[in-house]
Amino acid sequence: MNNQELTDFLKECGVCQICQLRYLKARGSEYQDMKESFEKLNVKLTIPDDNEVLSKKSRPNPCSTCLGLFSEEFQQEIIDKITCCNIDQFDCQQIGIALSMPMLLQIRQLSMWFALMKKFGSKIDEERSPDVPLKEAAKLILNPIICKKLNKTYNSEGILINVFLDHPDEENDVAKLLKVNESVFSMKNAKGKKQLITRAYMEKMFIPSKLSADTFAKQFEVPCPIPNSYLILKEVTLAGPCVFVAGRYRKLSRKLSHSPWVLQGKRVMEDSIQEIIIRNIAKHFGVEEGKIIFSSSGREDVDVRCLGQGRPFVLEIPNSKRMTLPKTLAHDIELEIEKSASISVKNLQMVLRDDLVHIKTGEEKKKKFYRAMCVIEQPITVEVLKKLDLPNGFDIEQITPIRVLHRRPLLSRPRTIYSTKAWVDEQNPKILIIDIISQAGTYIKELVHGDFGRTSPSFASIIGQPIDIIALDVVGIDLDWPANVDNSKLDENEVNGNGLAS
Ligand SMILES: [Zn+2]
Repeated sequence: MNNQELTDFLKECGVCQICQLRYLKARGSEYQDMKESFEKLNVKLTIPDDNEVLSKKSRPNPCSTCLGLFSEEFQQEIIDKITCCNIDQFDCQQIGIALSMPMLLQIRQLSMWFALMKKFGSKIDEERSPDVPLKEAAKLILNPIICKKLNKTYNSEGILINVFLDHPDEENDVAKLLKVNESVFSMKNAKGKKQLITRAYMEKMFIPSKLSADTFAKQFEVPCPIPNSYLILKEVTLAGPCVFVAGRYRKLSRKLSHSPWVLQGKRVMEDSIQEIIIRNIAKHFGVEEGKIIFSSSGREDVDVRCLGQGRPFVLEIPNSKRMTLPKTLAHDIELEIEKSASISVKNLQMVLRDDLVHIKTGEEKKKKFYRAMCVIEQPITVEVLKKLDLPNGFDIEQITPIRVLHRRPLLSRPRTIYSTKAWVDEQNPKILIIDIISQAGTYIKELVHGDFGRTSPSFASIIGQPIDIIALDVVGIDLDWPANVDNSKLDENEVNGNGLAS
């Protein structure tokens, strides 16, 4: 079987020139100058070529293997439909394309595979398909054309263009496919569910090495007949890229929960950190608030402030209308959030999906930095201060505090207190300020008062008298991420950039 014999046979079967090249295993640019490619492959185009067919008034029959997918008319139809979707709503220069093809295309490839085996015998492999698969060819042929027409570059992380194709014979052919090998589809998959007909499954199970040509031929013509109808472009949908925005927040209120706090259907706190941040960011990315996912490196109790450099957080924003976050906009958002008076945000910036590992790993190993305001019954003595001045720290054993027992399992955990340092409040001799560096997961309130001996040792047991906590602040988070950026100062290239001045 030489290239000429193969091409002539395909042409007889009503296969278009692009698909002929697919069966000649053409790659990349070889689909662009087809005449040259055929020449290189020593193929003479004898039987009426496409130009002759096109000169006839009526539209020719569609290709028997791609059903017109690679015809110029169809390419134009796809591009027209994408342009109708208002792709300009996305501030994004990159596109990815996902083609959803009807199953009958796959059946037709299989039919042609059987036909080639019948014609050329053992020269055709029965394990590996004789053509460049349609999906792959579509990527090589359609993607560059669509990108060029839309003036975008290809990137699967960009705007996703979903192209849904259909064909009038689809239902009929799938029903016949079931008859070819019903037992395959009644098998249960790994999850115990009935196997659905998917492309991947078909590519695995419906190949000549696993299916007899006779069984297939009972349901389908071999080679596949010349079709009457073209593929139908059913629908085109667009989905914006998924982007990630990180920053650090400071919690300035002692009456603010981390996420919406609802008890028995009623809100306990009016607002939350998560809602304030999302509310101020969602609108700039053209995304519904409910679609954004907020996560932070740990959290603090409702009545605990978080000061210092603030706590790192990240937002996952799906179907985003924008791919960049200019500093001017980031700064505007920071100022807006500050108006809430309960939190402030800085270092707001776009990050990559890969950066999320910073926020998701090693939480338990991190050090926590606190400042506690505590009170004792008598004026504080030098002796008390000395006992609480522990630069080398100590280890404690902490049984789940009574106050969280209703939602946490009863356990005893060892925790390390890395250091403590105390001093007397200037205004009140009974008030102590204590700086604490502890292992993540330590209950600080219980470390102070001892929780009826459930935390041991505690500050109460160390100084040998009752001590209570009035207020607690987080003053540092042991995570050097995201990068420190000052959005109030523009970089030189942003000052000179376009469309950023406001
Ligand atoms: Zn074709």
